[in-house]
Amino acid sequence: MKKVLPATIVAIACFFTACKKTIDVDETAPTSKQNPSIPQRLELKCVIKQDAAKSALARRNQPNTNEPVVLLLDFNGHQVSNTVWNTYYTGGNSFYAPGISQDLLSEAARNNIVKWVSEDFSAFGVRVTRNERDYQNASPTRRMRCIITHNLGHIFGAYGGFAYISSLIWGDDTPCFVYIDYLAYHDKYITDATSHELGHTFGLFHQSTFLSPCEVQHAYNPGLGFGNLGWGPIMGLAYYSNLSTWHDGPADVGGCSVNQKDVDIIKNIAPIKTDDHTDGLVQHLTDELPGRGVKNGILEHAFDKDVFYKGYNQSKRIILTSNGNSDLRLEVYNQSGQLVSAYDDLNGTNVDAVISGKRFLKVKISNSQPYVPVGDGFGGYTLRVTEP
Ligand SMILES: [Zn+2]
Repeated sequence: MKKVLPATIVAIACFFTACKKTIDVDETAPTSKQNPSIPQRLELKCVIKQDAAKSALARRNQPNTNEPVVLLLDFNGHQVSNTVWNTYYTGGNSFYAPGISQDLLSEAARNNIVKWVSEDFSAFGVRVTRNERDYQNASPTRRMRCIITHNLGHIFGAYGGFAYISSLIWGDDTPCFVYIDYLAYHDKYITDATSHELGHTFGLFHQSTFLSPCEVQHAYNPGLGFGNLGWGPIMGLAYYSNLSTWHDGPADVGGCSVNQKDVDIIKNIAPIKTDDHTDGLVQHLTDELPGRGVKNGILEHAFDKDVFYKGYNQSKRIILTSNGNSDLRLEVYNQSGQLVSAYDDLNGTNVDAVISGKRFLKVKISNSQPYVPVGDGFGGYTLRVTEP
């Protein structure tokens, strides 16, 4: 379990300046996304910039399209030319952001990063890829290259990530950056930094916490709780939380009285997917469970419910597993639509139950979550049917 300790905010100014945070890390056992070899103190810094006029123009020119947004996680190195980064940092000269060697980041770690960033964006019309061709095939205003790189301290200084606000829609191939030298070469940290920087490119600022009256407490909201069910907002500080979500809360730019609803800002560019499984307790509308096998689904928002029908009497073991960001509950209904049992692990995100009879199985977000704010959680899951 990871215990979340308070972040010490060293500097909080964010426009055209560095946002720096110093985090204490404890030594206890990792959660599912975490690696045991975490340094005692990991210093993470984020730089965000904006060009409001450019973003406003891009918003006016946004094509009305359902084309999925392609997010390229580029581990392979990239020559950066003719972007605002060149203007700002290298006097207009192009520079090379190096790729990551396998000894710094294994294939398994890269796959985890793609899987977990995909989970962060799973409700949206977004495709997360490592394939350069996917990026090249997407419209320029529907794609973002996030360069996962290192050894650029001589140009950028010792920061963990860089992004321009709303740059995804600019259409000029301005990338964002994640510097793994400042993220302990650690797949969980790199995931959170990558989703965070990509969030900036959709137009998001930092989720913050405030004291009364309106004094910034944490420029990066550190979340709540610890262990399997601990929560952190992606646009705040999610590095030490097992469950990370887009959040509806006050952002550092808006002050304490204005909420930034992350999901609404992302969905303005990448609409939320249509529901993949209906929620009615009606046999002909629901997906039939096999006698043995796997069904996948996504809860596209915190109040989505996905129903499956078990149309046979034999007992089966049902293993419901969260893809990472949602704490799940399974409700079992009889054919008359009456609730007969509910399964919700109070210390974990998954369900493992033996169910007999013809039943409707309803997958939803747990309503006994101790830390994730109501309305925040969504994500993918796997429902496995096996012998009891
Ligand atoms: Zn940031």
